[in-house]
Amino acid sequence: MKKCFILLLAMLLLLTGCQFTTQKAEPLSGMEITYLDVGNADCEIIRMEDGTNIVIDAGTKDQSGNIIRALKRKGIRKIDYLIATHPHADHIGGMEDIIDSAEIGTVVFPSVVHTSKTYENLLKKIKEKEIPAVKAESGVVLHETDRCKIQLVAPKKDEKYESLNNYSAVLHIAYGNTTFLFAGDAEKLSENEMLNYEIRSDVLKVGHHGSRTSSSEKFIAKVNPRIAVISCGKDNEYGHPHQETLETLKNAEVYRTDKNGDIIIHTDGTNLTVATEK
Ligand SMILES: [Zn+2]
Repeated sequence: MKKCFILLLAMLLLLTGCQFTTQKAEPLSGMEITYLDVGNADCEIIRMEDGTNIVIDAGTKDQSGNIIRALKRKGIRKIDYLIATHPHADHIGGMEDIIDSAEIGTVVFPSVVHTSKTYENLLKKIKEKEIPAVKAESGVVLHETDRCKIQLVAPKKDEKYESLNNYSAVLHIAYGNTTFLFAGDAEKLSENEMLNYEIRSDVLKVGHHGSRTSSSEKFIAKVNPRIAVISCGKDNEYGHPHQETLETLKNAEVYRTDKNGDIIIHTDGTNLTVATEK
């Protein structure tokens, strides 16, 4: 029944042309999160009623035009927090272009030595533009108002990981009575560390594109999402999302960028609505 309502709502939004055709930003009440379809990569755009804008990851380099168009459509000129969850190219590839196209308040990224050209260029760009940076580690509160609290729940402070994925900055957002978790590419090791935090969330951006390296039973049981969003590419070479992950998420309503295109979730602090591009 609920799914039916959400589908109906999605169709209505599409019929009225909301989100996808307008170039003029609609005034926003509550909080809107767009899980942008960027193939087998990640990019989430978050807008809040108080004008705060957050971008988590920026896909691969070839997606930067798509992301910049989405920012323009939403009327975003300033990104208050630009979060590079970890240095893999499917998360930071488009970031240099984003920095060139918008004003950036603060960048947030984990402290990790990684020597890819893409990452080195990004760090150079951040330095060149003198953008204030915050080191991503669990316990850091990025933003707090009476309505909203944004906290990092991973990676663990000063921890050294073998897999770059486990350095992923993981964000927990509480907005009114609704909660959201953005798991980056964090794997089971990092998920275990997160169990010490308040991670229960209505909506989960599933870790690592739905790979079996993530979404342990214990972690999903603790997060207990009503809605799960998987950012993955159509027919991707990794076979994401893996069947085991879909099985673990069986109690949630699952949306996938490979099937649904852009996924937009809105909250007024109590109710959640989902609109999809397809
Ligand atoms: Zn990734």
